[in-house]
Amino acid sequence: MIVAALPGDGIGPEITRAGIAVLREVRPDVECVEAPVGGDALARGLPALPDETRALCDRAAAILFGSVGLPAYDGKPLQERPEYALFLLRRDYELFANVRPVRVFPGLEDASTLKPELVRGLDLVVVRELTGGIYFGKPKEQRVVDGIEEAVDTMIYRAPEIERIARVAFEIARGRRRRVTSVDKQNILETSRLWRRVVTRVAAEYPDVELDHLLVDNAAMQLVRRPRDFCVIVTENMFGDILSDEAAILTGSIGTLPSASLGTRRDGKFGLFEPIGGSAPDIAGRGVANPTASILSAALLLRHALDDEENAARVERAVERVYAGGTRTAELVARGEKAVTTAAFTDAVLSQLE
Ligand code: NAD
Repeated sequence: MIVAALPGDGIGPEITRAGIAVLREVRPDVECVEAPVGGDALARGLPALPDETRALCDRAAAILFGSVGLPAYDGKPLQERPEYALFLLRRDYELFANVRPVRVFPGLEDASTLKPELVRGLDLVVVRELTGGIYFGKPKEQRVVDGIEEAVDTMIYRAPEIERIARVAFEIARGRRRRVTSVDKQNILETSRLWRRVVTRVAAEYPDVELDHLLVDNAAMQLVRRPRDFCVIVTENMFGDILSDEAAILTGSIGTLPSASLGTRRDGKFGLFEPIGGSAPDIAGRGVANPTASILSAALLLRHALDDEENAARVERAVERVYAGGTRTAELVARGEKAVTTAAFTDAVLSQLE
């Protein structure tokens, strides 16, 4: 079995090395094959997603992704930018479900901007619809009508798009505390009325999972008021874009958070697994980036793509122990404390695998 490892730009290669090392340690039978993507590919005179890289992904069971994007390409049209690779992968593999677990590890409560007692033990998952809704609906344009500039975006959902994302959320909830909160704006939006109806219908297939509904404005407030009450949040594309970043920042460190984007291939098992952060050009090449997000992305890959819950949980427990033992990379150390490098943090996780 092959995993396509696409390190990309900035800190991508430094932290993806950690994810690969952990995968190799727990699953020596899985071959991680690296290929260029993003600015790394452009610098070699290739497109952002070279044909060979795509062919590797076609053969692979999953993609372990680093990050793409470099300041040198800012301002260029999308097709000429490193980020275009990610756009193509999401589109061509129909990666419709973005899954973001948000956890505060014991010992990291103080990194949050919320009071430690509000985030202690925080453990939720945001499931965001990624290929539909207002970001893709047509018409989508700017125009001049009767001499006046106007613009239109279209929010549209079809029931099957809602059904499949709801199923992802309910399945994930089954492996956790069995609660799904569906977020919409059904007091205003027709798409939300459809959303609520379809999610409720799908819930009937999961009588063991509790479902409740929140309006998006209320959800934004409850996330900072009582974040620990949430188990799985499922929502449409734009609401999910905003709420998943709000949820992520509850932890205080972008460097610890992984994500999975799941599609329809291999019965929904194929996916792209990546840190939620970007290429962090401000710290790239210095060996100081936090590799946790890539290591935990590898854990998600084990869980969702390889059906290997045992090793996924093993990796997560190792990370937990490393934090509990006080090991920190630069962005998480308190003043006067000593930070470890990316490589040293990775070694610490490897040594804590039981
Ligand atoms: P960023 O996430 O790269 O960086 C934001 C801040 O978080 C920076 O201060 C950075 O140093 C810090 N940070 C991020 N990851 C870290 C880690 N693992 N350890 C320690 N600190 C970390 O966001 P940005 O600066 O807005 O974007 C930089 C580039 O990344 C842009 O070109 C953007 O387009 C791209 N980007 C790519 C992805 C992706 O590949 N999925 C996602 C977001 C941004």
